[in-house]
Amino acid sequence: MTAEPGWERALVIGSGIGGLATARVLAEHFSRVTVVDKDQVSTEGAPRPGVPQARHVHGLLGKGAEVLEGLFPGLRAELETLGAVCFDHGQGVCTYTPHGPVPRARVGRPIQVFTRELLESRIRRRVAAIPSVQVMGGVRVTGLRTDSSGRRVVGVSAIRLPSTPSPASEDVLPADLVVDASGRFSVLPQWLEAIGYPQPRDRVVNAGLAYSTCLFDGPDEDWRGIYHVNSAPHLPRGAYAIRTESGQWLVTLFGAAGDHPPVKLDGFSRFAQSLNNPELKKIVDGGNLVAGVHHYARTENRLREYHRLPRWPERLVVLGDAVCAFNPIYGQGMTVASLEAVALGAQLTRSRTGAETRPEGRLFQQRLPWITAGPWLLSTNEDQLWQAHMNGHRARLSARALHWYMNKLLDATITDPQVYRAFLNVFHMVRRPTHLARPSVLLRTLTST
Ligand SMILES: Cc1cc2nc3c(=O)[nH]c(=O)nc-3n(C[C@H](O)[C@H](O)[C@H](O)COP(=O)(O)OP(=O)(O)OC[C@H]3O[C@@H](n4cnc5c(N)ncnc54)[C@H](O)[C@@H]3O)c2cc1C
Repeated sequence: MTAEPGWERALVIGSGIGGLATARVLAEHFSRVTVVDKDQVSTEGAPRPGVPQARHVHGLLGKGAEVLEGLFPGLRAELETLGAVCFDHGQGVCTYTPHGPVPRARVGRPIQVFTRELLESRIRRRVAAIPSVQVMGGVRVTGLRTDSSGRRVVGVSAIRLPSTPSPASEDVLPADLVVDASGRFSVLPQWLEAIGYPQPRDRVVNAGLAYSTCLFDGPDEDWRGIYHVNSAPHLPRGAYAIRTESGQWLVTLFGAAGDHPPVKLDGFSRFAQSLNNPELKKIVDGGNLVAGVHHYARTENRLREYHRLPRWPERLVVLGDAVCAFNPIYGQGMTVASLEAVALGAQLTRSRTGAETRPEGRLFQQRLPWITAGPWLLSTNEDQLWQAHMNGHRARLSARALHWYMNKLLDATITDPQVYRAFLNVFHMVRRPTHLARPSVLLRTLTST
């Protein structure tokens, strides 16, 4: 493509799912796109410290699968040839609600499960193959660089982390657009402050939840996943399990309000048994442990309100977990990050075609709540109840009312496949949360026995 003068080089900080999807989109608008990551990233899908969450079950929602397929045509088929089977969610996932198991039956919602490492490595491979994109590992960004007016970001400062023990050196990487996709632990608020801009306010809703994950060689079954739902405030424990592309079982146990699964192997099976889930028991007690335990406890919902800042430097964008990180049990992060990357591309296209003035980062940030508001509502409503429970308060009436309805709806999923389908469509983000308030769903939920 021919880039416009002054808009030739883009730099993306972070090569997780959000950063890679963004690089793919930016390659349509810039003649050079550089993705930097502090990890030595490879296209082989090896574990790396920058994404410790990759050890845990990562479900890609239906919407996210659609978006990534649009960005990387043939991805689904490619993952399938590598062992990640596509199946129907209703048939292939054993779902346990607080009211009992949902009968397994076809619901028409396709799903594909795989490890996060496989997904990321295949996407990285495709992004790295785009001639105008360079993916550089071992580069840690340390701050933003501005022009002499201080109003425009013109690049970043970065330390190249040596793979040999020679001293690290600091460099300036120039760019016409900088995108921060450095994840949940982004330090952009501090970088902004260092160049004279205000820090955003953080909204945090914390369910006090932690994950513990093990990998098993296990039984060959006609199902490929388990979702054991927890429920505030009396059922803090739950689980996910998936049959990975290599045929092994990745089992994630979770517990809210501080009722955490063990950090060591000792107790893992006991915690799983406490769920009284026969399918889970088959894997954990009937299978052979291959790896684990991996533990993760930074799961709070955190929204950085960049969209409310009175001042924002030109040529800077932030997306993915760096803006809005969700409690992972709702499985929304990769989908939301991909949607945001696509929205950035759409904004750049509108400005190229003259339908809109040049996309200033500020406008992009102000529009992000259009994408994050629905997922934020879904993941923080239940979590407000956990947070209130931990603090010894009652949650707000609106949160309790929504929880009551969702609980009733989960109960109805057991007897009514149409309600289950509606629930899954919202869970997979192919429908908005308001879909669950449609008269047909409402009536079936309230009258189910
Ligand atoms: C335990 C857990 C389970 C999850 N399960 C799911 C799930 O089931 N489904 C789902 O959709 N999402 C899930 N998520 C969320 C998902 O991991 C993220 O939302 C998703 O990866 C998008 O994140 P991102 O690209 O913004 O950041 P990340 O994927 O975290 O990537 C950030 C990258 O930035 C790099 N980086 C950080 N700082 C710097 C720096 N200064 N310089 C250079 N590079 C830097 C890091 O090395 C990393 O590669 C889960 C999260 C957790 C914590």
